[in-house]
Amino acid sequence: MNGIVRLALAVCCAAILWAGLGGYGQFAPSAALAAQQYQAPQIPPPTMTMLAEGVYHYFGFFSSSLVVISDGQVLTTDPSNPSRAQSLQEEIAKLTDAPVTTIVLTHEHYDHVGGTGVFPDASVVCHRNCQPAFDLAPLGDVPTVDETFDDFMEIRVGDKVVELHYLGPGDGEATTIIYMPNEQIVVTSDMYEPRALTHKNWVDDKHFTGTRHILNIIGQWDITHAINAHSPGTDPVDLMENVEYYNDLYDAVYEAMLDAVAEGGLFAVFGVYGSLPQTLELEKYQDWTNYDTSFPRHVERMFQSISHGD
Ligand SMILES: [Zn+2]
Repeated sequence: MNGIVRLALAVCCAAILWAGLGGYGQFAPSAALAAQQYQAPQIPPPTMTMLAEGVYHYFGFFSSSLVVISDGQVLTTDPSNPSRAQSLQEEIAKLTDAPVTTIVLTHEHYDHVGGTGVFPDASVVCHRNCQPAFDLAPLGDVPTVDETFDDFMEIRVGDKVVELHYLGPGDGEATTIIYMPNEQIVVTSDMYEPRALTHKNWVDDKHFTGTRHILNIIGQWDITHAINAHSPGTDPVDLMENVEYYNDLYDAVYEAMLDAVAEGGLFAVFGVYGSLPQTLELEKYQDWTNYDTSFPRHVERMFQSISHGD
């Protein structure tokens, strides 16, 4: 194992562990401080929960994968890194002798896409926006993508139907929503967490108006289970509460921007950018994890997203 790959594994594992600390962690040490101060949390044993016949939710290393097994074919998602992928493979082997035949990557972020090499028989599928990020490959551990799609792709896994939807950028540029219409199971990644704000350190390339747009669309779908990236629960209520959160945040920020323009003209909107993160509160969400540390950055990020389009 060369140095680059070792570094990639260490960083990917650290990202996964960090993500598991309740809403992407509570703090953000510099790399040097992290090396001195970071204490890895206890990793609970992985779980494999059956959601429907032949459909499972693997949760391990603080991260989710969908597993679909039918007629000698196996689809899974986001192996994340080689050691987690090994654990995922071991848990799948308890259910079937069939090899993993398809891996869907939910988006381009490096803490989700490593470890595909553990499944040599699998075809790797990722939205077409993945490749430009993989070409940057600063850590050297990115997958070879076998198949891409633009707006929609249907995959058959035996008698199971797995749909891939691209509804625009959300978390990153290649945000893929996975939906199994017959089982009414949706899989999203890094779009929301149950009663938690995405930590402020991880919102820079999270498109807030895009996330709101996507959550509002899938909130209309028939859903029995909603898998999200970094929590073990699959209750659709968690998704619906976040639809409400992103709508409330959008409404509050947009209204303040309109008020400023009405009172002081177009350029007055920049005063809102400076002041609103310190003054706006959404009481309804004050008990959510990360509200205290990250809500001001959410206000700022929503302002940027509304005013700048990203
Ligand atoms: Zn992400």
